[in-house]
Amino acid sequence: MIDQLYSVYLRSTGVSTDTRTLQKDNLWFALKGPNFNANKFADKALELGACAVVIDDPAYARDNRYLVVEDGLKALQQLANHHRKQFNIPVIGITGSNGKTTTKELVRDVLARKFRVLATLGNFNNHIGVPLTLLRLTANTEMAIVEMGANFVGDIAQLCAIAEPTFGLITNIGKAHLEGFGGIEGVFKGKTELYEHVAKQGGVLFVNSRNQRLMEKAGRLVSEIATYPDKDDVYHAELIDAQPFVKLRARSGKVVDTQISGSYNFENICAALCIGAYFGVPENEALEAIAAYIPENNRSQIKQLGSNTVVMDAYNANPTSMALALQNFAAKPGYKVAILGDMFELGESAAEEHAAVGSLTAGLALDQVIFCGELMKHAYETNEKAEYFEDKQELATYLKGLQLQDSQILIKGSRGMSLETLLESF
Ligand code: ATP
Ligand code: MG
Repeated sequence: MIDQLYSVYLRSTGVSTDTRTLQKDNLWFALKGPNFNANKFADKALELGACAVVIDDPAYARDNRYLVVEDGLKALQQLANHHRKQFNIPVIGITGSNGKTTTKELVRDVLARKFRVLATLGNFNNHIGVPLTLLRLTANTEMAIVEMGANFVGDIAQLCAIAEPTFGLITNIGKAHLEGFGGIEGVFKGKTELYEHVAKQGGVLFVNSRNQRLMEKAGRLVSEIATYPDKDDVYHAELIDAQPFVKLRARSGKVVDTQISGSYNFENICAALCIGAYFGVPENEALEAIAAYIPENNRSQIKQLGSNTVVMDAYNANPTSMALALQNFAAKPGYKVAILGDMFELGESAAEEHAAVGSLTAGLALDQVIFCGELMKHAYETNEKAEYFEDKQELATYLKGLQLQDSQILIKGSRGMSLETLLESF
């Protein structure tokens, strides 16, 4: 079956799993969701111009343009892996609790100075996104960068079996998706599945030396590791300032001003520079790429709204990134307002982690702290000087009434909170 599927794929203009974005002569895959049967859309996909459709219920097949497989998702993954195997190029897998997308984009921009690079688009980092990324490999591609996300132990191993990365980077191990991983130990085990896979391939690991456990595990598994970002590391740089943007002294001594805020981004930048140096990108070019990078999608963006400066970090939030963002924000000068929304997917530790955010904010130099969402009630309980709104709409109205001027405003919460809508209130 895979041979037949592959020959259809090679004649197609690419793969689609969504009729809304389908392009002419795409090979379309029916992927079942918990609440829908995509096989039903196969006819529509053909009407819209698909060259063939892959379905997993024979009842929907009408002619030889319908390729029936046992499981649409598995077929997509197998096809992606088969295609991946045709390329003997470096494939860099990037996972970690925080900063995957940012780091992937920085690595992409640095490597693109020397190579023709394929990288994950946006946040397409799961069991569907990874195959779709691989299926964009062409004879032209010299290097691939694949972001890998995970919610459970075993997820990364599965994505590695599909993408077969030969290089690996774990940005960090933090408190994210604790619900699925069952705690921080689970996160460590789950993320380091990438190390184990790269080790089996005889590949190279890029390691953040500030994480002792990652260092120890990587050192045990592979013979070659390239470390960053401190003095004794393969790639070392120095963070000069994080306000309003990261400014660093690179290995060569050159000082670079970036357009990314948050001291945590220093490590993401160093990861990209480490990888660039490993693959021989001249440092001045790599630094140009870093200086030119502007984050997308409400990730650590700084927006000037009238006389107010908003640090927009409403793309996502978990205990680790929340704490770092707050510490970073508190170091800013001026009148500071932190607007913090619920952090999702924390399972049993949700109440405790939100309470910890409350205590943290109580000890920081912040002029106004506003919590929003059901879970943030626990934060409010540990910082009674703060304000609390269960409802985002009420908060929006309140903010409008405040008429803040000349203030620094941090907005951070989980994706599901969509706190970016609060921007209208300033
Ligand atoms: P996702 O799980 O949604 O794919 P991600 O790991 O790709 O997230 P990014 O999208 O790059 O992460 O960044 C999301 C947020 O994580 C940032 O806005 C920032 O608050 C935080 N963050 C980024 N890098 C780090 C880091 N190195 N350490 C801690 N927090 C970070
Ligand atoms: Mg991401």
